[in-house]
Formats: sequence, C-alpha cells, structure tokens
Amino acid sequence: MRFDELTAAYERLEATSKRLEMRAILVELVRPLRPPDLGRVLFLSQGMLRPEYEGIELGVADSLARRAVAAATGSDEAEVARRTKSSGDLGTTTAALLENVRRLETEGPLTVAEVYRELTRVAEAKGPGSQEAKVQILTGLLVRAAPVEGKFLVRFVLGTLRVGVREMTILDALAEAFGDGSKAARAAVESAFNLSSDLGYVAGVLVEQGVPGLASITLEIGRPVRPMLAEREPTLEAALARMGGTAALEYKYDGLRVQAHIPKHGPVRLFSRRLEEIGPQFPELVSELPNAVRERPAILEGECVPIDLTTGEILPFQEVSRRRGRKHDLARVQEEVPVCLFAFDLLLEDGRPVYDLPFPERRALLARLLLSTDRVRLAEQRIVEDLSSATQFFEQAVEAGGEGVMVKSLKEGSSYRAGARGYWWIKYKREYTVGLSDSIDGVIVGAFQGRGRRAGHYGAYLLAVYDPARDRFESFCKVGTGFDDAMLAELPKRLARFESPERPPGIETGLTPDRWMRPGLVLEVRGAELTLSPIHRAAQGAIRSETGLALRFPRFTGRIRDDKGPTEATTSPELLTLYRAQVRQAPKPVGGERPGTAGPE
Ligand code: AMP
Repeated sequence: MRFDELTAAYERLEATSKRLEMRAILVELVRPLRPPDLGRVLFLSQGMLRPEYEGIELGVADSLARRAVAAATGSDEAEVARRTKSSGDLGTTTAALLENVRRLETEGPLTVAEVYRELTRVAEAKGPGSQEAKVQILTGLLVRAAPVEGKFLVRFVLGTLRVGVREMTILDALAEAFGDGSKAARAAVESAFNLSSDLGYVAGVLVEQGVPGLASITLEIGRPVRPMLAEREPTLEAALARMGGTAALEYKYDGLRVQAHIPKHGPVRLFSRRLEEIGPQFPELVSELPNAVRERPAILEGECVPIDLTTGEILPFQEVSRRRGRKHDLARVQEEVPVCLFAFDLLLEDGRPVYDLPFPERRALLARLLLSTDRVRLAEQRIVEDLSSATQFFEQAVEAGGEGVMVKSLKEGSSYRAGARGYWWIKYKREYTVGLSDSIDGVIVGAFQGRGRRAGHYGAYLLAVYDPARDRFESFCKVGTGFDDAMLAELPKRLARFESPERPPGIETGLTPDRWMRPGLVLEVRGAELTLSPIHRAAQGAIRSETGLALRFPRFTGRIRDDKGPTEATTSPELLTLYRAQVRQAPKPVGGERPGTAGPE
C-alpha cells in the first residue's frame, strides 16, 4: 500500500467525529489489505508500531524532530521553531515547509512497508550516536514525503497523531470488513483481542481463517491478557444483593496489579494493569515465582504490595512507589521496601487455559498451585452469605491495610472476563479519613515472634488502651514498625518482668500473641487513622456491637513512656473521641476507565 493512500484516509478521519463515519472510512481502508500491511496500518493508525505491551518507544523529542524537518526542507532550525510556535503543531509547519521544496522522487512514492520499516529503525536506534541516527532516518523519510505525508509522519513520531481511531472502533471495522459485521462476529474479534492484546495478530488470523478461526486464539506465555475490571457499588449490602446474597469476599490490596507469566523454562515476565512490562522493577518476584508454583507454565494475577518481612504486615502503598525511578540502587530498595504478591486469580495452569472456568474452580486451582512463600501468598478470602459476616470481613480487611474488599461472583458464568468491566467483580472501598494527628500511648499486653531478620526476637507487640469504667485493657493494634535494632534488643529485657505464661486477667483482645505480658510498659505510637475492627476490642460496642477500634498502619515513634503507668495510657473513651473527630470522605473516583459492560443476572 502506498503511504499517501493511508494519509488520505487520515485526512478524512480527522475531518469527522462521528463514530459511524469513522468506522466506514476504516472499513474501506482495511478491506483490501492483507498481512503484513494490514497489521502495520492498524498499528500506525493508533500511533504505535507494535502492541502496547511490547513497550516500544521511538525516543524522538521535539528538538530532534525539528532538526529533521529543518534538514529535509532546507530551513533554519530556529525558523522551524518560530513557525511551530505560531501554528501550534510541528506537523502543520512541516506540511507548509514541504509545499515549497521539491520532493526527491528518484525512489518513487513512499509505501506503508517502507515507512513502517524506517520508523522501526528509529525506535531501534539506541545508545551513543543514536540521536544523530534518528535524525537521519527521519530526514530520509521527509525528503520523499508529500506535504500531507510529512504532516502525519511528524505527528506520528512525536506521539501526537490524533486521528481518533480507538481500539473499539478498529474492532468494529475489522468485524465488518472481514466478518459479517454481526454482533457475534464483533464479540469474537473483541474476545480474541482481549486474550492476546495484539490487534495485528488478531487481524491476521481473521483474514486468513475467518471469524471461526478466532476461536483458536488463546493464552500464550509472554503475551498479556487484558485485565478483568470491577464495577462498584455504594454499599456492601448492594454489592451482596447484586451477587444474589452470596459471594466470595477478598481483601482489596492497595498496590500494583501484576499479571505474572511463568514459563516452563526461562525468565518470568510481569505485566502491569496497563500491560507494561514491570519485571525489572520487581526482580525478587521474578526469581521467587517459579518456586512458588507447583506446575509451570502458569499465568496468574495478583496485587503487589509492600510488606514488613519481619512481621508479614502490609505497609502503605506509597512505599512501593519509592521503587519507581530507582533502577540503580534497586538492590537497596528491595531490602528497604520488600513486596509481596497476593495472588487472586489464575488464567493458565500447567499449560492449560482455565480462564473460562467459574471463579470458585479457578480459586481452588490457584490454592492448589501456590506454595505460599514470604513473597507470594494467596489473597485472603471468605465466602459470605449475610451482611454481618461481610461487614466483619470488610473491617478486618481495612484494618490489615487493605483498601476495602472485592466482592466476587460465585455463579456459573463467573469466568475471567478479559478486558471487561462488569458486576462479576464489585469493589467496595472504605471511606477515607483525613489524617490522625495525635499520637496514642498504648500498653504492651503481648509480643509476637519475629521472622526473617528478626527471627529469634520479638518482631511485633500487641498494644492496648485502658478502659477505666470496666477496668480492663483493650487491644487496638499490633505494631512492628518503627523499632530500630537497639530498641528491639532492649525491649525484651525491659519486658521480662511482665511476661506471663497465660493471658493475664483484664485483657481484652481477639488476637493470641506468642507471649502474653502483664500491662506495664507504655509505648507511643502513631498511625494513619482509626478504623472499626472485628479483632481489636478498644471501645468495643460503642459504635457497633462486637466491633472495636483499631489503629491502621501503626508505627512506634521511638518513645517509651516511662513517665506513664499502664492506667495512665490513652483510654478507650479518648480513642473513641479521636475516632469520631476523624472526618470521613468518600473515595475518589478512579479516572480513565472504560464504560461499563454487562455483568451477571
Ligand atoms: P480499581 O483499581 O479501584 O478499579 O480496583 C480494581 C483493582 O483492585 C484491580 O485492578 C487490582 O489491581 C486491585 N485488587 C486488589 N485486590 C484484589 C483482589 N483480591 N481481587 C481483584 N483485584 C484486586
């Protein structure tokens, strides 16, 4: 195909905003095409060279493109910059400049194949001298380009090609051009795309084998599946009602979604929710995953969250973002900010696609497949049949550092719906509170054995507040963060005289520490907020029966309150006042989501 035929279609696409018209133009454009031109045209039209997950970047900055335009049109770079400033678009300026120069016509008109090949060379040019090489390749294309071609070439390399062709419109056009345009054909094209994330590949199979041939497209290691997405409901009650009264509730971990591709042999690859390759950010997961599954190849999904390896506790998500842009001292960051993958779904098991099995079957297979390690664990789940156990599980999830819960359908149709947002998964997030500025003085009533670096020592402590009315100590958190080595060594000595072989009277908690302590030592802690808890007992019953208050993300400030005796610690009524003083806010809507698709019922 000649490149000017493609850019003529772009001109027409640019001139309309009607989806139907765009589809008609696209159908006309792609119908005569066959691979490999077909794939090239589909990718180029979306401003890409390869599927998004391959992460190919052209690496062309404005200044570099300006240099190429100047060289190809015999203009001064400053002049190009000045004209671009007034036109607002280097593409338009390029077209205007090309009007006044003679094209190099010895090699004939540009073809799509040539343009695609040269642009690939631009992307591949890396390292020393690559800037010069990119300018030269681009200049080579521009000297042969007609004004319109030049305009779109420049916009393409700058990533500003705005012909408005979205994936969904391309899927429509493919179904019409190479299928019968029916709903079924459209669904088959979309499903093949959702499983392979590669439009060029899907189009090739469609042309060569027709709509029935698309059924042969399935999961492949190294080719990410477009993620299944969740709907939302304003209350747990509504979410549960959607599911018909019974559902699987899971912790909604607050981290990064990871799709792990674990081949039989060779390196594990990790993909983000946007299908970017993120393995290099998490080398410890890449090396651990092959040991964390019984069988390979496998594709599983989970949420990657920062944890404290010595206590196994989840840490705030911000910790993970510290990894970004720290490629050089990754080894140190790995140690400072360890992460754990909480696996929640399974798409390929021992080489067999299982994504279309109902969720309960996938979960059972996942549980069987996983060998839990420090860094790879199964997402916490509970099957609930009533609102009160759902509420209790939700509170437990939030207290453990989760954002809320995912409510998942257990019905027959609960297969993994790649690329679709529906009511098969419903997210229910907690309300956010605005900071807890006060510190809390808690009495140590128990201690937990440490793991990892803290093995053989206590790794975390159970803290309580004092309730003067009932004369008892009520737990409100387990704290393992904020202790330095010296403090970790000192505390057991100071606590020795309070140790108790069994639970001392007057201690209320839903947890069982490895070692009970009589109330004696008071620690100052801070946390993100106070939340309702089914495990802790502070101010129990004040808000709701059976429910106490807990401190989320507790951290020791480093201060032992030797000046305070246990009954002078923070009291339960004080904690309740702090809880009530927190201002509640609804969670922020998440931007950039695709519109809803159908769900159960
Ligand atoms: P949102 O990003 O708010 O639309 O919520 C959906 C996201 O929650 C998913 O893309 C996952 O990254 C994340 N998530 C955390 N825990 C789970 C879980 N147990 N099951 C499914 N998704 C989860």
